[in-house]
Amino acid sequence: MIKKAIILFMIATLMAGCSQAETSNFEQDEPVEQVQAEVVEEVEEEIIEEQEEEPVDPKEKIDLTLEPNESGRIMVLMYHNIGEEEEEWTRTPENFKKDLQILYDKGYRPISLRDYATGNITTPQGYTPIVITFDDGNKNNFEFLEDGTVNENSAVAILVDFHKKNTDFEPATTFFLTGDVPFGQRDLISKKFNFLIENGMDIGNHSKNHANFTEASSELLQKEIGEQIQYLESFVEADDYKVNTIALPYGTRPKDETKTQYLKNGSYNDIPYENIAILNVGWNPGYSPYDNKFNSESIPRIRASEMKVDNVGMYNYLEYFDNNPDERFISDGNADIVTVPEGKQELIKSDETKEVYIYDKK
Ligand SMILES: [Zn+2]
Repeated sequence: MIKKAIILFMIATLMAGCSQAETSNFEQDEPVEQVQAEVVEEVEEEIIEEQEEEPVDPKEKIDLTLEPNESGRIMVLMYHNIGEEEEEWTRTPENFKKDLQILYDKGYRPISLRDYATGNITTPQGYTPIVITFDDGNKNNFEFLEDGTVNENSAVAILVDFHKKNTDFEPATTFFLTGDVPFGQRDLISKKFNFLIENGMDIGNHSKNHANFTEASSELLQKEIGEQIQYLESFVEADDYKVNTIALPYGTRPKDETKTQYLKNGSYNDIPYENIAILNVGWNPGYSPYDNKFNSESIPRIRASEMKVDNVGMYNYLEYFDNNPDERFISDGNADIVTVPEGKQELIKSDETKEVYIYDKK
């Protein structure tokens, strides 16, 4: 568009030049109109040539020296509370800020759980996606003070503030909510939900009553899941916003495998639901969404803590990936191409919508 505008401007300038020539002593055999027509024709040809040029292969934009590896692992971090005293399930505001800074410095960049679950990795090339989650929806995750500001020590304020200082670190985080008063302030539920969505964060399901699903009947499972989805969605202004991710309370699944289907699909009061991601409690990094072994119905998480993590906490894995960079997901910056070094391609599942790009790692 801009190029065309410049060319048209040039035509105008050339024409002005020709008209001046007419009044000067400039000798010419052809009438001015004809010269103008030829110039226009030439420029038009140029425009056509430009349009006909082969589109640039998007693979050429992938910088292989950054060693992209989209078969690598992705960590889904699990937090619970932010509080003044560090505990097994509580991070202090200072430690949470430290976590974000270390992730940032080590080249991790948050993506939404939805994008991870659906394999839409838009992370800039050379960086590693990470998924941040919080369970239970306690007030310390998101609190409005009486003066209308967000408590600066709540998780949401820390995430938003960190993003302001580091704009390439999105606050993308999913909050898994249980009970009737998510985030502990009944009158502000809607305000909070809309704030989260506007700021690129998400609302997830953590069941109506934080139920143990081990022995639950199919009716109870659908009530615990479906009722909570309807309840949470009722506070969201955007009509098309869906609460369709769930973190299993206590990480529990029905013992009876015939009931497992209700974690994903079911209905409550004749309103059906479908979850696109089902999260466990866990102790290992998730597979790449392009890996054969990836299962969006069973996504493991890593405890984002330093206390009682049994050597499988976030800091253990950060160290692990520092020592084993070949196992870490490194984005190619293109969500439609899956780039892997030679030798890793057998890990990738076949998917007609994505092109697999294999390269030789020097
Ligand atoms: Zn929980």
